[in-house]
Amino acid sequence: MKKSVIIIGSGIGGLSTAVRLLSKGYDVKVYEKETTIGGKTNQLFQHPFTFDLTASILMNRKTYEEVFDDAGLDYNDYIDFILIDPIYRSFYPDGTVYDFSRDLVSLIQTLESISIEDSIGYMKFLAEVYERYIITNNHFLQQSFESPLDFLQLSSVISALKTKAFSTSHQLISKYIKNDKLQKFLSYQSLYVGISPYDGPSIYTLVPVISQLYGLWHLKGGMYSYVKALEKAIYQLGGTIETNYTVDEIIISDNKAIGIKSKEKEAVFADKIISNADFPYTMDTLLKNDSHKGKYTTSKLENLNYTCSTFIIYLGLKKKYPLLSVHNLYLNSNFKENIDAAFTGQLPTNPSFYVYCPTRVDDSMIANDGDCISIVVRVPNLFFKNITWNKDTVQFMRNITLSALKSIPGLSDIEENISYENYLTPEDLKNRFNSYGGTAFGLSPNLTQTNYLRPHLKSDNVKNLYFVGSSVHPGPGVSLVLLSSKLVVKEIVKDDSMNTPST
Ligand SMILES: Cc1cc2nc3c(=O)[nH]c(=O)nc-3n(C[C@H](O)[C@H](O)[C@H](O)COP(=O)(O)OP(=O)(O)OC[C@H]3O[C@@H](n4cnc5c(N)ncnc54)[C@H](O)[C@@H]3O)c2cc1C
Repeated sequence: MKKSVIIIGSGIGGLSTAVRLLSKGYDVKVYEKETTIGGKTNQLFQHPFTFDLTASILMNRKTYEEVFDDAGLDYNDYIDFILIDPIYRSFYPDGTVYDFSRDLVSLIQTLESISIEDSIGYMKFLAEVYERYIITNNHFLQQSFESPLDFLQLSSVISALKTKAFSTSHQLISKYIKNDKLQKFLSYQSLYVGISPYDGPSIYTLVPVISQLYGLWHLKGGMYSYVKALEKAIYQLGGTIETNYTVDEIIISDNKAIGIKSKEKEAVFADKIISNADFPYTMDTLLKNDSHKGKYTTSKLENLNYTCSTFIIYLGLKKKYPLLSVHNLYLNSNFKENIDAAFTGQLPTNPSFYVYCPTRVDDSMIANDGDCISIVVRVPNLFFKNITWNKDTVQFMRNITLSALKSIPGLSDIEENISYENYLTPEDLKNRFNSYGGTAFGLSPNLTQTNYLRPHLKSDNVKNLYFVGSSVHPGPGVSLVLLSSKLVVKEIVKDDSMNTPST
C-alpha cells in the first residue's frame, strides 16, 4: 500500500517536495492556510498589472529544472525560461549607470571603464569565490547533515576550512575591489540571504558570483509561473492541494507524528508529516509539547538570529521606462549606515534598493503600454519592537524611496505616471505566511546556524516528522529551498527503505 504524506504549507518547499514524493509513489496531500498557493512566492494581480509578490531573481536555473527531472517530467512542458542580459543595471546618486552583462566582452568594457585594477580584481574575485562555491555545493549544499558525524568527518572539516568563511562578505570584496561603486554592487547582492555584508560570512559572495557565472533567468509569466507549474505536476501525478486549511497542531502519539488538527476543519491522518511552514513558527505554534521541540523551545527560539525583512512598493505605470532593465540596483550614499539600519532596528534615511521590472522582457505580465515595477528595500524584522508598520511608517518609507528613485535622470516623472500602487510590509509576511518575526528569509544562515548547526530536515525528537523550507538546511532563497526539498525526500526514502522488512 502507498505511504501517505501530509505537507503543511504550499510554499516552493512544500510544492516541490510534493512533486518529488508523488513521483516516488507516495500518496501526498498539501494543506495551505491561504486561498492561494505559493507562499511568499506569490502573485499580486490588478488588471492590467501582474506583479511577483516577493521572489524575482532566478539564480541557479538547474535547481528549478531538477524537480521535473527527478519526477521523470520534461520541464519544457511546464516552464519557459527567458535569458536576461544585462544581468543587472546599477544606478548611483551622481548619475553613474553601469551595466553588468553576462557576456564577458561587454562586462570587461564596463569594468575597464571603472579601472584596469578593478577589472583584474573582479576576475580574481570571481575565480576565488567560484572555487569556494564548487566546494560548498559538493560538500555542504547537497548533504543532509542529520548526524554530527556527517559534519565532523575529516573531509567536511577540510572543506569547511577551504571555504574560508570566517571573513565577512565586505572584507572579501574589498580585498579584490577598490572602487566604491563596484564594492557596493557586490555587497548589496550578498544581502539577498537577509544578512549584512558587513557581518555575514563571506561565503554569501557566492550570490553575485553565481549570478555572473551561471546567468540570471526570467520565467515567462514571472516567478509565480513556477508555482503554477508545480501545481500542474502535482495534479497530474495524482496529488491534492487543499487551500483555506489552517493547521493548528501536529498530532503526536507515542512520539510519532500521525496527523494534523485544525480548529475549523476535520483532523487528517497520515504516515508522515512534513512542515513547510516556517520552522521557528512550526516549533512555536504547531508543536504543543516542549519535549517534542528539543532545543527549539519557545524561549530558545527568541535567542536565535533572524534575517532582516523587506518593504516593497508595487507600481503599475502608465508608460514604459526603457531605462530600467529587469534587475536594477540603486546604490545610495551612506551605504553602510543605511544597510546597517535593517539590522539595528532603524529605518533607512537614504535607502539603497532593488527595482524589478519584469515587463522589460515579458509582455504577458502587462495588458497595456506601461510597466510593472517592484521596489524592494531591506528593513528591520519585527523582533525590533520600536517600529510600528502603520500608515505613517508606510508613507515615510514610500516617500523617501520614491524621492531617491525620481532622482535618477530619466525617471523624474515616474510618480506622475503611477496608475496602481500597493505595498508589502514585514507585518504582511508575518500575518499572511506565518513568517516568524516577519522576516523575509527565516533563520539567519550565519556560521552558527548553517550546515549541521541549522535546523535539520528530520525531527530529532519526533518520528515521521520532517521539515522543508527557508529556515532549515541548506538555507533561504528559492534555489536553496528546492535543494532542501531534494534532501528531505532523500531522507524519507532512506528511512522507508530501512524500515521495510526484507523478504
Ligand atoms: C521580499 C522577498 C524577496 C525575495 N526575493 C527572492 C529572489 O529574488 N530570489 C529567490 O530565490 N528568493 C527570494 N526570496 C526568498 C524566497 O521567496 C523564499 O526563500 C521562498 O519563497 C520560501 O519558500 P518556503 O517554501 O520556504 O516558504 P513559504 O513561502 O513561507 O511557504 C510556507 C507556506 O506555509 C503556509 N503556512 C504557514 N503556516 C501554516 C499553517 N498553520 N497551516 C497551513 N499552511 C501554513 C504559508 O501560508 C505558506 O504558503 C525573497 C523573499 C522575500 C520575502
